[in-house]
Amino acid sequence: VMHQVKGEIRFNNVSFTYPDTGIQALKNVSFTARPGEMVAIIGRTGSGKSTIANLIMRMYDVTDGDIAIDGVTLPTLELNTYRSQVGFVPQEVFLFSDTIARNIAFSADKMDLPAVEQAAKDASVYQNIVEFDKGFDTMIGERGITLSGGQKQRVSIARAIFKQPQILILDDCLSAVDTKTEEEILNNMGSIMNNKTSIIIAHRISTIKNADQILVLDHGTIAERGTHESL
Ligand code: ATP
Repeated sequence: VMHQVKGEIRFNNVSFTYPDTGIQALKNVSFTARPGEMVAIIGRTGSGKSTIANLIMRMYDVTDGDIAIDGVTLPTLELNTYRSQVGFVPQEVFLFSDTIARNIAFSADKMDLPAVEQAAKDASVYQNIVEFDKGFDTMIGERGITLSGGQKQRVSIARAIFKQPQILILDDCLSAVDTKTEEEILNNMGSIMNNKTSIIIAHRISTIKNADQILVLDHGTIAERGTHESL
């Protein structure tokens, strides 16, 4: 089914066990993220945060319960059409041995340099890039320069922003960025993702203080939920 995503994500009593290990990562998780909202997910290592991101990306199907996007269950949506509308920045940044511009414009058929530059500005990495001799044509990876951990994370965020997604998922990808830059990126995201849905998995409280909802995961269940003020 072709589907123009608006961005409501609903987890309805979702349980999930990884098929290969038999580890139950989520138990009866329910929440709704509406378009325009930023939902933050926190919790100890191994509590199931990345699993929520993996399930929204439909890397696996849920074991029990369901996930609906705008009221349509995920397995009903055409996967590529759906994924083309979701920006996902995984915990392990993945960059190609290619130019910075092509790494950011990964989702496009044609190079659109102004859009690439804007995405780089929004991800607070533009200044770093233009300081390289070849700017956006700088090669990275095996055949080029090595970016710092924080630069890699921001290039990866720029790639997701470049897609202009209806849903943006950041899985703990601001860890190597200082708090001032983090604040800058989150502010930019606030305006880019206005009317769109953001899911932010984080460790630092500073990352999530402006979230509309905070979900605290513990051993695969939502132990607490609320806002920064209420928790
Ligand atoms: P972290 O903060 O360390 O990233 P997390 O809260 O994101 O942790 P998950 O990565 O969702 O936690 O892991 C939840 C549980 O599922 C853990 O017990 C983990 O070992 C297990 N798990 C995670 N990914 C897989 C996988 N691909 N295959 C099998 N088990 C997995």
